[in-house]
Amino acid sequence: MAVPERVEFLIIGAGIHGLSAAWRLGQRLNANGKGAEGRILVVDKEGVGAGASGIACGVVRNNYFQPAMRRLMAHSVDIWESDPEGLSYHPVGYMQISCEAMRADVASIYEQQREIGYESEFIEGANAATNYMRGLFNDWQAKNITSVLHEKRGGYSNNTLSMRGLARKAEQQGAQILSGVRVTGFHFESASGTIAGVETDQGRIDCDHVIIGVGPWVRDFWDMLGLPKRITVKDLDGKVHEDVAMWRYWQLEEGVLTVPPETLLTDAGDIPPVIHVDTDAPLLSDVDGSVITDEMWGIYYKPDWHFGGVQGGASPYKVDTPVDEVAVDPYGPASPEFVASPDFAHMWVSALAHCHKRFEGMMPRYHREASGGIGCFTADSFPVFDRFCENATIVADSNHGWKMIGVGHLVADEVLGEPQELLEPFRFGRFAAGDLHPVSNSPYPWS
Ligand SMILES: Cc1cc2nc3c(=O)[nH]c(=O)nc-3n(C[C@H](O)[C@H](O)[C@H](O)COP(=O)(O)OP(=O)(O)OC[C@H]3O[C@@H](n4cnc5c(N)ncnc54)[C@H](O)[C@@H]3O)c2cc1C
Repeated sequence: MAVPERVEFLIIGAGIHGLSAAWRLGQRLNANGKGAEGRILVVDKEGVGAGASGIACGVVRNNYFQPAMRRLMAHSVDIWESDPEGLSYHPVGYMQISCEAMRADVASIYEQQREIGYESEFIEGANAATNYMRGLFNDWQAKNITSVLHEKRGGYSNNTLSMRGLARKAEQQGAQILSGVRVTGFHFESASGTIAGVETDQGRIDCDHVIIGVGPWVRDFWDMLGLPKRITVKDLDGKVHEDVAMWRYWQLEEGVLTVPPETLLTDAGDIPPVIHVDTDAPLLSDVDGSVITDEMWGIYYKPDWHFGGVQGGASPYKVDTPVDEVAVDPYGPASPEFVASPDFAHMWVSALAHCHKRFEGMMPRYHREASGGIGCFTADSFPVFDRFCENATIVADSNHGWKMIGVGHLVADEVLGEPQELLEPFRFGRFAAGDLHPVSNSPYPWS
C-alpha cells in the first residue's frame, strides 16, 4: 500500500509505545466527535512487535526505588488491568525477594506503595521471609534473604500476543498501521525548525505531529533530529559532569528452561507471582559446584506457557562497542553479535537451583537457542519523554518500557494539548538541571 502524502498524527514504530499512543489518540479523536479515520498513521520498517516489544520477557511490576517511576507504573498497571484478555495480561503479582543490603531500599518502596494505594505486602527478617516463601514452595532454599516485597498487582503479559491485541485496539479506533516503511530522515520548516514531514524509503509523508517510539533505534533518530550525542549532567550532589554520552547499550540476558511450565506452580497449584531474587549469597554452579560469583547477583523468572517453559533473565551487561558503532540490526535473537551469552545459561540455571530444589540438575533442559537483545539506555538509565523541534515527541524508555503501556496514552494526551504531570520528571532538561532520579542499591541499571 502506498504511503499517504499527509496525515495529522504520524507515529514511527509499532512497538508498545507507538501502538499505545495510536490507541489513545484514536479514542480521544473519536470521543470528541470528529473521528480518527485517516488521521493517525503508524509506520514501522518491519511490522508490529519487530523490536524489543516482540521479545520482552513481559514482566509488569511497580517495584521501583524512584517515586516518579512508581507513580508512572501504577498508571500503566491500570491500563493493563483495563483489558487483561485483550492485552494477554496475567495479573499474578510480583515478588522482590532481597538480601540485607537491599532491605532498607525495598522497605521504602513498600512504604511509598502504601502512600499511593498500590497494594503490596512486606515481609521482613530472615525467618519470616523464608517461611513466607516456603508457604508457596516447600522446596524454597535461597540463602541470605531477609525481605520479601509481594506486590499484589502486576504480573506479566505475552509479548507478541499483547502486541497483536494492542494493534487491534489501535486499528479499531481508526489508526492505520503500515509495515515495511522505513523512516530515513526529517523535513523541517525552514523558518521555525518545526518538522514538516518525514522522508521514508517509500516517499515523503507530511504531518502535523510526530511521535517517535523506536526503542533501541532511538540513537539514530536522535541524530536525525540533530540532538546532542554528548551532554552535560549535574548529579544529585550538584557536581557537573561534562561530555557524557547521551546513549549507551546494554545486553539483556534472558532464556527458557524447557520444563513444563506447571513445574513452577505453587504447592496450592496456582500460578505464582513473577519471582525476582537479589542476593549476596555466593552462587555455586549447579553443574560442578564451582563459585560462579561471590558478589551480589539477581535473577527473575516465571512459568510461561507462551515461551513454553520457565522463562526469565538476569542482570544485563554493558555493551563495550562504541555507541555509534553498535549494529542494532538485525535485532534480537537474529543478531550475530548481541544475544544472551553462554555464561548466562550456566549462571541462570544455577541460580534457579539455588532458589528451588526442583531445579537442581536441570542444566540440560536449558533451551540453547539465541535469545535476549539490546536496549538503548539514557545517560542516567531513566526514560526521556519529551518534545523536540516543536512537534516531535520522543518516547525513549531506557529499556524500562514493556510494563509502561500507559506512557503512549499520556504522550497522546500531551500531543492533544494536555500536559501530563506524570511525564514531567522525565524531561530531557533534568540532566542539565540536576533533577535526576534517586538511585538504589539494586544490581540492575533500571531499579
Ligand atoms: C530481552 C528483553 C526483555 C525485556 N523484558 C522486559 C520486561 O520483562 N518488562 C519490561 O517492562 N520491559 C522489558 N524490556 C524492555 C522493553 O521491551 C522495551 O523497553 C520496550 O519494548 C520498548 O518499546 P518501544 O515501543 O520503545 O520500541 P520497540 O518495541 O523496539 O519498537 C520500535 C519499533 O520501531 C521500528 N523502527 C526502528 N527504526 C525504524 C525506522 N527507521 N523506520 C520505521 N520503523 C522503525 C522497529 O522496527 C520496531 O518495531 C525487555 C527488553 C529486552 C530486549
